[in-house]
Amino acid sequence: MRILVTGGAGFLGSHLCERLLKEGHEVICLDNYFTGFKRNIVHLMDNANFELMRHDVIDPFKAEVDQIYNLACPASPPHYQHNPIKTIKTSVMGAINSLGLAKRTGARVFQASTSEVYGDPHVHPQPEEYWGNVNPIGIRSCYDEGKRAAETLFYDYHRQNGVDIRIVRIFNTYGPRMNPDDGRVVSNFIVQALRGEDITIYGDGSQTRSFCYVDDLIEGFVRLMDQNEIVGPVNIGNPGEFTMLELAEQVLAKVGGPSKLTFHALPGDDPKQRQPDIGLAQEKLGWEPSVSLDNGLDLTIKYFRELLSKS
Ligand code: NAD
Ligand code: UDP
Repeated sequence: MRILVTGGAGFLGSHLCERLLKEGHEVICLDNYFTGFKRNIVHLMDNANFELMRHDVIDPFKAEVDQIYNLACPASPPHYQHNPIKTIKTSVMGAINSLGLAKRTGARVFQASTSEVYGDPHVHPQPEEYWGNVNPIGIRSCYDEGKRAAETLFYDYHRQNGVDIRIVRIFNTYGPRMNPDDGRVVSNFIVQALRGEDITIYGDGSQTRSFCYVDDLIEGFVRLMDQNEIVGPVNIGNPGEFTMLELAEQVLAKVGGPSKLTFHALPGDDPKQRQPDIGLAQEKLGWEPSVSLDNGLDLTIKYFRELLSKS
């Protein structure tokens, strides 16, 4: 197949491009490099099946393709809050342009949605049926509401125009090729520990997240995209739930060094807890994560150690 991946030069997109090329597909990677890097995909450039398109998803794009994975959107809070109007435009216009292309070509189209659609959840763990608890006017809303509107658009194109859609709700994912400067917790803690800097805990560190290793996530993407039974949304994430204090202690135990824990103000609307209910993915996709946080952190620390030694 010929497959378009928007946001293909980002953390998740680069792993997806690699996986699709390994399966023998042609891959077109579309990116504006807002938070992505050529260094994430440079090793794919020699592959004759790989093409790059510098483009912004808020403007329409054309390509004759069989599948579209729509991943373009900044994902870390500091980056998506940098220009919030651009963030919501990216989600909404990116969805409309991906869906428009899918409608014209008949391609199946996949949306990278997020556990953020559940907001600061009152139901725990979060099943797909939960409608969420999202502040529509807070500092995270440009991302959360943009992703919710994108899900709405996907379902309306599906119902109104018969577009063949798939939607995944991604829970916090980590691994090699995370951007060391994008402010997400796993990359922050590892980079701080490797540099011997203090670890920045926001709030008292009792808030929880459930961390999925990138290879497990990409396996879930492909399983959802390549089956015909369900369209989603489907939660893909690792149900292992940790407080930020526990995460910091695990990272410090692995990296060693002089870093100490420091406590800082909790950002606005920061969800207190998050854990996926993955029953649907287990039942319909035969998917569940296989990499523990312990093993995944080792692989991620190794990546950042090498990256930092080069800079
Ligand atoms: P990332 O920031 O590394 O990748 C996003 C990519 O999209 C980057 O390459 C960036 O340059 C590109 N991009 C941003 N705006 C664009 C635009 N207007 N036009 C074209 N390209 C644009 O983030 P990621 O972690 O790889 O996330 C990928 C997708 O998965 C995002 O849609 C994100 O919302 C979603 N997601 C990720 C996580 C996670 O934990 N990593 C969790 C939930 C959802
Ligand atoms: N966080 C933290 N220190 C950091 C970065 C993040 O304590 O240096 C916290 C943040 O407040 C949140 C959790 O870690 O409670 C996960 O943050 P991240 O930005 O990785 O993801 P999200 O909040 O979008 O789930």
